[in-house]
Amino acid sequence: MEKRKLVIIGSGPAAYTAAIYAARANIAPLVYEGFYSGPSGGQLMTTTEVENYPGFPEGIMGPDLMMNFRKQAEKFGTSFLSEDVKSLKLEGHPFYVQGSKTSVETYAIIVATGATANRLDVPGAREGELWQKGVTACAVCDGAAPIFRGKDLYVIGGGDTAVEEAIFLTKFGKKVYLVHRRDHLRASKIMSERALNHPKIEVLWNQVLVEVKGDQIVRSVILENVATKEKIEREAGGVFFAIGHTPNTAFLQGQIALLGNGYIDVKAGTSYTSKEGVFAAGDVQDHVYRQAVTAAGSGCMAALDAERWLSEKGWISG
Ligand SMILES: Cc1cc2nc3c(=O)[nH]c(=O)nc-3n(C[C@H](O)[C@H](O)[C@H](O)COP(=O)(O)OP(=O)(O)OC[C@H]3O[C@@H](n4cnc5c(N)ncnc54)[C@H](O)[C@@H]3O)c2cc1C
Repeated sequence: MEKRKLVIIGSGPAAYTAAIYAARANIAPLVYEGFYSGPSGGQLMTTTEVENYPGFPEGIMGPDLMMNFRKQAEKFGTSFLSEDVKSLKLEGHPFYVQGSKTSVETYAIIVATGATANRLDVPGAREGELWQKGVTACAVCDGAAPIFRGKDLYVIGGGDTAVEEAIFLTKFGKKVYLVHRRDHLRASKIMSERALNHPKIEVLWNQVLVEVKGDQIVRSVILENVATKEKIEREAGGVFFAIGHTPNTAFLQGQIALLGNGYIDVKAGTSYTSKEGVFAAGDVQDHVYRQAVTAAGSGCMAALDAERWLSEKGWISG
């Protein structure tokens, strides 16, 4: 069985940044990049232009940015496997990582498997339809794009995130409609009041999105009243899902402490998880910021934490 000092699981900004730091520290990390679990390269592989990643004043296409991350990790001696990690064996050291084809023995692990934005599976909103052509799951990432400016925008959800996204979008849209299936918001009182009092936000109560229509871009949405089942078509320039994220932690099988919302619980200000030798970085442990730059920053933290820990244990020199 292959033996490593450090295995990194995931392939977004967090995993690749951790790999860059660990490889430069001569730890020769092995990265399980995933296969069926999500696009290799992470969430940014599914988007077009990234305008808020520092260092690219003209913006950069998401897939190009991730290929650059990967090349930089490879340059310093990272190895990659296009496999999903299926399970971990974490009793005692070394740990065992079971991939879909291979298994590896390792002393330290960085989990950077991201989180998947929840979406409604409705006609028009799927991949190959209007997804990323006006349908998205990240207002902070995409809201400033020209296609949304001066348009009627629809945020789907009713929690704090939905309200925050709606408020953010008022900077760009003509009007922002918050589509909520209940007759009251789930958001905190203060956030609900901000939405209800905002002149550019209108809450559409007891409504669900049932279809998105358009051609090259979104043109309209069809909403259904949950009580009467009455359907109505409304002009729309964008649809933003804000119905939560699911952190990719199933393969951990309860061996690491999670927060109530399913994200990995890390010791504040570090990447340490409840299991010594296992570190976490990126969106899988961040339910607040969820941005490429914060994921990359926490990937750096995880690599430095892992390096120091391996050194303290005497498993690497230095
Ligand atoms: C459409 C869209 C647009 C966005 N635009 C921006 C933007 O403009 N600016 C910005 O800062 N942020 C943006 N974001 C958010 C940003 O993409 C994320 O915050 C960031 O990618 C999180 O990085 P990560 O490293 O935590 O993991 P992710 O990017 O989520 O990558 C994790 C990857 O790990 C792999 N994986 C999962 N499970 C396993 C497993 N069991 N075994 C092996 N591998 C596994 C998968 O390949 C998965 O894709 C956007 C997100 C989306 C969805």
